Amino acid sequence: MNKDLSNIKKSRHLLDKGECIAIPTETVYGLAANAYSDKATSKIFKLKKRLKKNPLIVHYVSLKMLKNDCKLNENFFYLFKKFSPGPITFILKLKKNSKISKNVTNNKKTLAVRFPKHILTKKLLQKLNYPIAAPSANISTRISPVTKEDVIEEFGKKIKFVLDGGSSKIGLESTIISLVNKPQILRLGGLEVSKINKALKTKLKFNRKNKKITVPGQGKVHYSPGIPIRLNIKKPKINEAFMLIKKRKLSDKNYYYLSKRKNLKEAAKKLYKTLRMIKKKKFKSIAVEKIPSVGFGEVINDRLIRASKF
Ligand code: AMP
Ligand code: MG
Repeated sequence: MNKDLSNIKKSRHLLDKGECIAIPTETVYGLAANAYSDKATSKIFKLKKRLKKNPLIVHYVSLKMLKNDCKLNENFFYLFKKFSPGPITFILKLKKNSKISKNVTNNKKTLAVRFPKHILTKKLLQKLNYPIAAPSANISTRISPVTKEDVIEEFGKKIKFVLDGGSSKIGLESTIISLVNKPQILRLGGLEVSKINKALKTKLKFNRKNKKITVPGQGKVHYSPGIPIRLNIKKPKINEAFMLIKKRKLSDKNYYYLSKRKNLKEAAKKLYKTLRMIKKKKFKSIAVEKIPSVGFGEVINDRLIRASKF
């Protein structure tokens, strides 16, 4: 516990100085910087090699601070009460007098906000007098990190500090919902859309082909392990890694199980970890067994389709 406290202190010190550090969240690790500072947030883009036009998610711990930056509406309060802190990101209208850096929004009049659940990150946020911008702590288009080691694998010595919070519990990015006008799902993620629909009494669906949406989590190539991925495969080729969601009687050493018994939540959690592991084993390609497109299966397929556009 003492170690955690001294690490939080160190994180705070670096963030106050305008540095960029990695923080644990229940979804994936984030690359964090002071969201009110142009200088600090520009470091995120540089480290990630992220295009300036891709806006960042800003992380809060208190509604009081959020109220300085965004206009809140009824749908927001409803979903916030039910699901925050947790794996849901809200797109809200930005207030005119907000101090959020223009780098964060790419000059848009909207802001993506989230309340993360990880205890260390919550404690850190409580000590800051600004919110933190934090996209996933990986080089753009690559696999998101779910442990401290993954972050170091991405950035090496270029990252000043990683606040170690163990493995991310969910292991997938947040679900993004726009509440600017009519609610609209912009990205599938750690909170099932069915739960949002139940709460709002709606029938929202994620529309992959929505051309108006230009967010990186929806870019064609994303979450890529850097080798080809083939989907809906019954039998892998020789020397190909095979990713499965249900244990088979006959197994080979190139078989990687996301779950023993087709538990899709468990499979989602293991997805990035497994892709990273396969990549390290130097396979030339990955075959993936058919995964049912329901609940977390839909999220897994969403990520795999983008990862396969290598
Ligand atoms: P990540 O880099 O994985 O943290 O992803 C952040 C996601 O939030 C990306 O898909 C962003 O484009 C999206 N995002 C951030 N700000 C906005 C915004 N104002 N409107 C729509 N999407 C946003
Ligand atoms: Mg990302």
